[in-house]
Amino acid sequence: MISRTAIARQPEINPANSDLRLVDRLGRVHRSLRISVTDVCNIRCQYCMPAEDVAFLPNQHLLSFEQIERFVRFVLPLGITKLRVTGGEPLLRRQLSDLIQRLSNLGGLEDLALTTNGMLLARQIDDLVAAGLKRVNISLDTLSEEVFRRISRRDGIEQVLEGIEAARGYPQLEIKLNALVLRDVNLDGVLELVEFATSRDLPLRFIEFMPLDAERSWNMQRVVSGDELRKRIAQELAPLRPLDCSDPTRPSRDYVFADGRPGQLGFIDSVSKPFCSTCDRLRLTADGKVRNCLFGVQEWDVAQALAAQDEGELKRQLLACVQAKHPAHGIAQPDFEQPERPMYQIGG
Ligand code: SAM
Ligand code: SF4
Repeated sequence: MISRTAIARQPEINPANSDLRLVDRLGRVHRSLRISVTDVCNIRCQYCMPAEDVAFLPNQHLLSFEQIERFVRFVLPLGITKLRVTGGEPLLRRQLSDLIQRLSNLGGLEDLALTTNGMLLARQIDDLVAAGLKRVNISLDTLSEEVFRRISRRDGIEQVLEGIEAARGYPQLEIKLNALVLRDVNLDGVLELVEFATSRDLPLRFIEFMPLDAERSWNMQRVVSGDELRKRIAQELAPLRPLDCSDPTRPSRDYVFADGRPGQLGFIDSVSKPFCSTCDRLRLTADGKVRNCLFGVQEWDVAQALAAQDEGELKRQLLACVQAKHPAHGIAQPDFEQPERPMYQIGG
């Protein structure tokens, strides 16, 4: 694995000579932008947020929808084609469908997607789809109310399931379910989740637990690797067959059942099999910081440039951010440092 410090030996790009495409020093072309619209959440997943005493951003520190749109207008000609709106819980941001509408109106996008915990989806899905939402990923780690409570420290699995059903009412909307498995909490429910998803013809993806939790309870023992899950599913249900993937930037390795039964499973093995070498993502936090990696320890502040409509400053910040991208997250390296901001503050 390439160490985080190896970047120091990479040649520098001179911003003056750059044609301003978002290409980093390893030649990775950035096409995907994750936009966090809030750090607030209505649940408290233990792999993400603290249980109590969460200090959320004051409202006046959040980028307005107008500023987010301005940022996106700026990055579209630089090669960004895929947008994902996330948080915190994005459906807690008032009138989120207005932002979706603004982004959808920009045109030229290959993808306009949302990641949500699903709790508020049933009541917002009509407006979101009408506004132009193309895809939604809904987090579903368990079907058990008791396990849901252990993970999220709140009640609410029924609301999540209602949200999934409501989204299924829109055949034009692409839906995926995302599950994060903690060995000590929800490993036993994995097969149930697979059956739930496959019986509804919904792709299910398993995301490995990454060291991005506020309580710093991450350790390798708690991580259930994609390999382990694939083995378990093959033993208990049926062997899996990998699907060819034409897009190397997709983080998920997708499988179907080898015996032909319906179902598609994806595995985002970010810890055990990092895909940093093909990463095409940038992130905009709810308070206007650009990040080149979930695990980056540096952020580039574009809030002021957006407020002042200062394109020169925006360019400088963005180029500096892309240039500084590390080759790899380096979780397995001895010098790995967990980033200061946990997942809910960055935007997952
Ligand atoms: N609140 C929404 C939700 O939960 O879907 C959107 C934001 S959440 C931060 C986005 C995704 O990040 C979720 O699918 C969640 O499972 C994932 N996530 C949160 N903490 C994580 C961690 N420590 N490691 C890996 N994935 C994590
Ligand atoms: Fe909230 Fe999503 Fe984090 Fe869970 S993973 S606490 S739903 S932001």
